Parts: sequence; structure tokens; C-alpha cells
Amino acid sequence: MGATIIDGKAVAARVRGEVAERTRAFIDRHGRPPGLATVLVGGDPASAVYVEAKQRACREVGIEPFDVRLGADAAHEAVAEELERLNSDPAVNGILLQLPLPAGLDPESLTGMIIPEKDVDGLTPVNAGLLALGSPGLRPCTPSGVMVLLEDAGARLEGAEAVVVGRSNLFGKPMAQLLLGANATVTTCHSRTRDLASVCARADILVAAIGRPRMLGAEHVKPGAVVIDVGMNRLTPEEAGNKSGLVGDVDHAAVAEIASAITPVPGGVGPMTIAMLLENTLQAAHYQAELECMFSELDGVGE
Ligand code: NAP
Repeated sequence: MGATIIDGKAVAARVRGEVAERTRAFIDRHGRPPGLATVLVGGDPASAVYVEAKQRACREVGIEPFDVRLGADAAHEAVAEELERLNSDPAVNGILLQLPLPAGLDPESLTGMIIPEKDVDGLTPVNAGLLALGSPGLRPCTPSGVMVLLEDAGARLEGAEAVVVGRSNLFGKPMAQLLLGANATVTTCHSRTRDLASVCARADILVAAIGRPRMLGAEHVKPGAVVIDVGMNRLTPEEAGNKSGLVGDVDHAAVAEIASAITPVPGGVGPMTIAMLLENTLQAAHYQAELECMFSELDGVGE
């Protein structure tokens, strides 16, 4: 029997609907919408498409988008100044610095300038540290989206063997931490892992984030495993065998024969990333509104 296909588009639509409803409640309570600023440096066409999709998604759920653009020749100081301005703008609850940045700009030091309360990508050292400690904080969007998909698919994580292939700061490391937080027994693999197939084949939950088209085949998968394919590799439509030209890191046709559930590419993990960005922006807005209330109460003390 073939695997159940995990429908990321449907789950993302549900999350967006829930965010829209809770955003209306936020506006009723606070008299203003949550705000998300996207910062795009340079004119990379793919990045511009992502930023526009994020802005559109914001408008659809009632979050106010702020579109900040700087030229490809912007100096570190100019980007830093813009981030500082957004850090102190009370209408902006979330800041997203679109990566990759043009050559010559250091993504880590610039991302690190975003104050943790507005770090809706969950990439700053403070939020990464909070995740490692298992404390509340803003979590990176794609791995949190995977957690929602696993929950929706009814995957049992407690005590399960989970294998994450890929150890990037953006995805692999936070993914492993989230699975650990859900009481899975987690192994992280990378390019130096010995005998990748046998490590992967132990997994009840296998997450692939490698960036290599269809690298994981049936020999990497335990029968009945839940397989999450994070890879987004662009081929020609002929090579990919689909209109979009996108394929994942998993050989979908072969693995779908033996897995119990699997995400497709496109239409699996991809749609969850923006949905979780909206969720994070709303969470950030709530947290900042609570802080504002606390400070205004403190201001009243002693008057
Ligand atoms: P990355 O920074 O390039 O990391 C790739 C990881 O794969 C590295 O840890 C690397 O190991 C490991 N790797 C490379 N070749 C390997 C091999 N032969 N065997 C085992 N491990 C190997 O990439 P990333 O940013 O994490 O993204 C990974 C994929 O996910 C990409 O296709 C990306 O487009 C996709 N992605 C999708 C979304 C989404 O929204 N759907 C979001 C994020 C990423 P080393 O560390 O040893 O080099």
C-alpha cells in the first residue's frame, strides 16, 4: 500500500485561516494590526518573489506589511541603520531580513541586530539559545512548520527514532532541537556521516534537508516511516517530470511505496514556511503588546 501524502497546502491554509481569525481579535483588542517588515537588499529576482509572497500573505490575514528595499550596493551600515529604525518602530512587530544578502554583507551579524522580540525568523542567537534551552521564544518557521505537519499526520514523536539529514542553522539544527523537545530520540546527519543509508533506515521519522535532488531512496527508509522532504531543488520541468521543475531531496516515487506518510515537493513543507511566519508575527505582536501593558502599569506606579 502506498504512503499517505501529507498535504502541506491544506494544512498551511488552515493555519493561515486560524491566524486571520486571531489577528481580527488582536485588532479588536489593541486597535491596530500586527506589522511585519520585510527587508530586501538588492534585486535578486527569486528573493523579490519570496518577499512579495510574504507581503501578500500578510495582507490576506490582516497583518500590515512594511516593504523595505535597499540597493544591491547598500553598505553594512545602511542595512544596520534600517534594522535599528525597524527595531524601534512600534508599528513593526516582526522583522525579516531576506537571505541571501548580496556579496560583501555578513548575514549573521546583520540578522543578529534584529531584537529577539521581533526576530520572526527565529534566527538570532537569543532565540536559537532559547530553543536549545527548551524555553519559550520565536522558532524558525520551516522547522516549526514541519512540527505542525507531523502533528497533523498523527505521527507519534515520543520515544520515536528521528533522523534529520542536514545540520544548517536555518533548518537542520533547529529541527533536531524541536524533535528533541517533543521527546524523540534524534540523530543529525551531514556530509561526513558514515553509512548514511543505515542511519536513515533506523528512523521512524526521517527529515531530509540536504539540497540534493532525490538523494534519499528506498534504501534510506524504514518501511512504515514518516518522511518529511524539505528539499527544494530546481530542475527543468522535463528533468523534474512536473510543471514547476521543483523536486525534493527524496526520491518520492520510490519512497512513497514503503513509507507510511510522505510530504510532496512542491506542496508539502514549502507552504508551511509562510504560514508559520504569519503565526510568529502574531505571537510577536501579542508579546510586545503585553510588554507595553506591563510598562504602562509600571509607569502608573508611584504617580
Ligand atoms: P544547507 O545550508 O546547504 O545545508 C545542507 C546540509 O546537507 C548540510 O548540513 C550538509 O552537510 C548536508 N549534506 C550535503 N550533502 C550531503 C550528503 N551527501 N550526505 C549527507 N548530508 C549532506 O541547506 P539548508 O538551508 O539547510 O537547506 C536544505 C534544503 O532544504 C535545500 O534544498 C533548501 O532549498 C531547502 N529548504 C526549504 C525550505 C522551505 O521553505 N521549504 C526552507 C529551508 C530550506 P555539511 O554540514 O556537512 O556540509
